[in-house]
Amino acid sequence: MSAEQPFRVLPRVTEENAHFWRGGEQGQLQFLRCSACRTWIHPTSPRCPECLGKGLVVESASGRATVLTYTFNHQPWVPSADHPYPIAIVELEEQTGLRLMTNLVNLSNEDVAIGLAVRVVFEQREDVWFPLFEPADAALRRVGADPA
Ligand SMILES: [Zn+2]
Repeated sequence: MSAEQPFRVLPRVTEENAHFWRGGEQGQLQFLRCSACRTWIHPTSPRCPECLGKGLVVESASGRATVLTYTFNHQPWVPSADHPYPIAIVELEEQTGLRLMTNLVNLSNEDVAIGLAVRVVFEQREDVWFPLFEPADAALRRVGADPA
């Protein structure tokens, strides 16, 4: 963990959600999926919310998503040079409603926009791999960019 990494609260990893928090170790964004009706399920649930089926399997999503909405955090909750930074809700291309609250990374704040095509990248903290999202368009990627 480098000194530049922003503070993150580590989730409590359980048997039920380990596929989600540790899939990044293999570069995979994983969700439960109903084996009966093929619905992707997030957050994890013991039953499919669509058909109430219990036959749930772990599957890897593409990691491609679109920014649905975003905001900038201006509050320096913890000491960091990284303010303001974007917090977004992204929707995975696999399914309408398959959404994650996440951080957008590797881009200038001025390029953050609703509808922006993004792809997953993982940031490891201890035994957790946080799914973050960067622009799908390489021309917009700014690795290590200073906030605009
Ligand atoms: Zn189902």
